Amino acid sequence: MLNCAPSLNATTHAVFGVAALAGASLIAGTEPPAYAYPLAVAAAWLPDVDNPRSTLGNGLSRMKSPVLNLLTRPVSWALRVTSFTLVRTVGHRTLTHSLLGILLFTLPVWLILGRYTALALALVAGYASHVFADALNTRGVPLLWPIGGSVRLLPGGIRSGGAVEVAVALVALGFAGWELYLLHPAVRGALGLLQPL
Ligand SMILES: [Zn+2]
Repeated sequence: MLNCAPSLNATTHAVFGVAALAGASLIAGTEPPAYAYPLAVAAAWLPDVDNPRSTLGNGLSRMKSPVLNLLTRPVSWALRVTSFTLVRTVGHRTLTHSLLGILLFTLPVWLILGRYTALALALVAGYASHVFADALNTRGVPLLWPIGGSVRLLPGGIRSGGAVEVAVALVALGFAGWELYLLHPAVRGALGLLQPL
């Protein structure tokens, strides 16, 4: 039986992914390239691959271009197989939403992509942001899985799909905007141009 209790939506996770990458880059003192942001968003959707109905668990949608299709089909199948395997073995919101899951994701990323700091940082920050965001949810996350129960960062937690989730996503968006302003001189320059002369 699939355990598909509602999760925070994909847009909320995308916003948290961007905010996490920008925050990690500010701390590390690096300016991430533009391509790092979509990667952080994809990584922020990855932990829900253990739910076949999630954005990535359902595989990637078919592209119009045959060439792109050829490239994305194997990834799509890998995601679906991973999704099916996870939901049949450990279930939704278990391994992928725990510290162990973050570690199992971070290790290969660091080993394979460690030389490309911006890339590795985007993937790890995006992934970890998902677990953090879900910890704000009513259901919490099993941080210490397979031992220990759910951890919730807010008393009661944020209900999925409610007005509070939208408000939290907007606050995170504002925070991400402020971080991007601090990080990227180009963003500051563009805003400077908007100022009245
Ligand atoms: Zn989740």
